[in-house]
Amino acid sequence: MQALLYAAPGQLKWADTDEPSIRSPREAIVRPIASAFCDLDRRIRAGSTPFKPGFAIGHEAVGEVVEVGSEVTTVRRGDVVSIPWKIACGHCAQCLYGRSSACTSVPKHACYGVPTGGNWGGLFSELVNVPFADAMLVPLPAGLDPAAVAAASDNLTDAWVAASRPLAGRKDARVLVVGGTESIGILATQFARAAGAAEVTYFDSDDARKALAERSGARIFDGPPEALHERFDVTIAATRDHEMLRSGLLALAPGGHCSCIGIIFDDPKIPLFQMYMRDVTLSVGLCSVRPHIPKVMDLVAAGQCDPLSLTTVVSCDEAPDALAVHSAKVVMVRPRITESDAS
Ligand SMILES: [Zn+2]
Ligand SMILES: [Zn+2]
Repeated sequence: MQALLYAAPGQLKWADTDEPSIRSPREAIVRPIASAFCDLDRRIRAGSTPFKPGFAIGHEAVGEVVEVGSEVTTVRRGDVVSIPWKIACGHCAQCLYGRSSACTSVPKHACYGVPTGGNWGGLFSELVNVPFADAMLVPLPAGLDPAAVAAASDNLTDAWVAASRPLAGRKDARVLVVGGTESIGILATQFARAAGAAEVTYFDSDDARKALAERSGARIFDGPPEALHERFDVTIAATRDHEMLRSGLLALAPGGHCSCIGIIFDDPKIPLFQMYMRDVTLSVGLCSVRPHIPKVMDLVAAGQCDPLSLTTVVSCDEAPDALAVHSAKVVMVRPRITESDAS
């Protein structure tokens, strides 16, 4: 079978690789039918992450179940499912606490599409092994377009958690989204409204993203960052730029919360004393997506978030070069093979 490989900086290519097989009764083999590029994948391809070339990329996908082990009870061949980015067992203390990102049944940081914690393959591949099918896979509601929720595995759900967690219990909250990453800031803009924000303001230097944010219901801020100071109850920093993160932190009103969802590999200077004087919270971390995926799919089904509004859909042939051509979100689709035999 073929996997989409990060072959060299600036180069993704299809390559032959071994087909996965069922090795334990709790596993499933899934065929991705809608695979999304995470914002991180752009940086992997560009060579601007710590990851060296030579691995199968992709950790966001909806797939069809092809085969299940004898102990799998919640899905069967033909089911269309979301595949979380993180390999997680569902029954260790961390998983039971809702922190699948820290599952202790597998090596640390075991996941798809990134060479950490073992080799689990990538979600652009023709087939992938899902080691804990019952704990990981989430069936799609009937009628939902797989391409719309391909990113529920990661970016889409990360955006929902970043917006909804600080907004829970805050009435009439004013939200600032600091943009900069390709898709997740726009998704967070849409989800902030869905989570009950009184108003959403969007701050970014990129005109295309500003237009998307405006269409997503945000007010666009074009003034100097100082004019944002202490005006917002919640900020969502979907940026990797240190100064932009700083703007997001200083924009917090007393008691505010900043969700930092741009992956920053180095250590930016944080305005800790000014944050102290405002009594604010900064949250940052890998998103344990699995418990939140059903809610995210319901919100997309209800039209509360429209990922396709920022998505370009491409074929398998177009996938290797798609990131060089298209901005925002790119989703690759491939035809189903189990449709005729599913009930
Ligand atoms: Zn990701
Ligand atoms: Zn676990």
